[in-house]
Amino acid sequence: MKVHEYQGKEVLERYGVRTQRGIVAETPQQAGEAFAQLGGDLAVVKAQIHAGGRGKGGGVKLVKSRQEAEEVADQMLGMMLKTHQTGPEGQLVRKVFVCEGLDLAQELYVGIALDRHLGQPMLMVSAEGGVEIETIAAERPEAILKLPINPLRGLEPYQARRAAFFLGLSPALVKKAVPFLVGLAKAYLELDCEIAEINPLVITEQGEVVALDAKINFDSNAMYRHPDVAEMRDESEEDGKEVEASRFGLNYISLDGSIGCMVNGAGLAMATMDTINLHGGAPANFLDVGGGATEEAITEAFRIILSDPNVQGILVNIFGGIMKCDVIARGVIGAAKTVDLHVPLVVRLEGTNVEEGRRLLAKSGLDITSASSLDEGAKLICQAVQSAN
Ligand code: GDP
Ligand code: MN
Repeated sequence: MKVHEYQGKEVLERYGVRTQRGIVAETPQQAGEAFAQLGGDLAVVKAQIHAGGRGKGGGVKLVKSRQEAEEVADQMLGMMLKTHQTGPEGQLVRKVFVCEGLDLAQELYVGIALDRHLGQPMLMVSAEGGVEIETIAAERPEAILKLPINPLRGLEPYQARRAAFFLGLSPALVKKAVPFLVGLAKAYLELDCEIAEINPLVITEQGEVVALDAKINFDSNAMYRHPDVAEMRDESEEDGKEVEASRFGLNYISLDGSIGCMVNGAGLAMATMDTINLHGGAPANFLDVGGGATEEAITEAFRIILSDPNVQGILVNIFGGIMKCDVIARGVIGAAKTVDLHVPLVVRLEGTNVEEGRRLLAKSGLDITSASSLDEGAKLICQAVQSAN
């Protein structure tokens, strides 16, 4: 789960991590008031979207007066901000974060992410802040120091000192950087983060260590443990189809191909997507309807798949283990009748009561092609979509 920069900073402040503070504004007038309230003669107006790279896209602007803050907010609010992390159409800016303007002496990089190879969170620091870490990792890997974090003990103070020395900080700054890094790691572990990235971490002219930006992603599956964090979810930033699906307990992820997939079980869903690719097609989504999908959930799944204008065919691939194939067939038939099914549908059923399931599909009068194996099902739907083009 992603949150906005202002929310990430709010979370970090709870852990004693000093951030560039600000006030959220939803109108130009509020942005002007925020400038006045901050009380300085320099502020930064920052577009709040769930994507980075805002600076280069025109989503981060320095302002020197209340009037300028209003003008900049007026331009930003409602704009479709395009960055390398948004789609080509960009993302709508609904809020701006008006932050205290800082005099930057140095921009550094600090991030924590899960190292899947080690199975541990990894602290990464680099003196080359403001640049994307992927770029540094590719071009100058020696400019990054990586330190694994013990998930039980957290980041040890000696590790934090090592990181601070690697960044070339003076003794006075090391003293400030250590609690900053330890606090960041504590937040990461306690709140089940997936990523906690501060880019840039800045040293101000006044000698303060401040998080200028905050990209905090949380593990969605752990949000039941953190109801206060879960409340920060902003569904308007997420894919509408994915939000709908989550309401029905469906694991749906939209992709950019043309073949809608409806599968039970995540592993089978992955295998189905691979097999579609093998036969020259491209999946429009990942969808795991789960082990106990009801007719209602299956109808909903069809509706969500069909609401994607790129979908030119659907492959249903269900293994009736706990579920029975005749129940699934009834669900598919019911759903196909309720929604306007305007694309070819291939169904592959296997498992308990499979004969009854196939018989129900055959006599339903619907234009459904039955397949007896995953390979055949994938081949048939790819052919149907290709011949329609
Ligand atoms: P991103 O582009 O989405 O990652 O947004 P950031 O929050 O990282 O801001 C982008 C850049 O704006 C930073 O790298 C800074 O160079 C600049 N910036 C942001 N706030 C300030 C500020 O208070 N003072 C100065 N001088 N520059 C700032
Ligand atoms: Mn940034």
